[in-house]
Amino acid sequence: MSYKNPLTKVNCPFCGEEIASDAKFCPTCGVKLKETVEEQKTKICSACGYQLPLDAKYCYKCGVKL
Ligand SMILES: [Zn+2]
Ligand SMILES: [Zn+2]
Repeated sequence: MSYKNPLTKVNCPFCGEEIASDAKFCPTCGVKLKETVEEQKTKICSACGYQLPLDAKYCYKCGVKL
């Protein structure tokens, strides 16, 4: 009763449904599967690690020049 399945199956991290590994969305719950690399609009202060907007010239927290 086994059949060859050319598609690699993965389980949806959200609903657990078995879906094709190359699916971009889970057909069952609709969750987005491909990790979208969200463009970082922030940078991290090298002095204190505070997260700042990319266009910040000074750290809002420690005041260091960026
Ligand atoms: Zn799902
Ligand atoms: Zn800082």
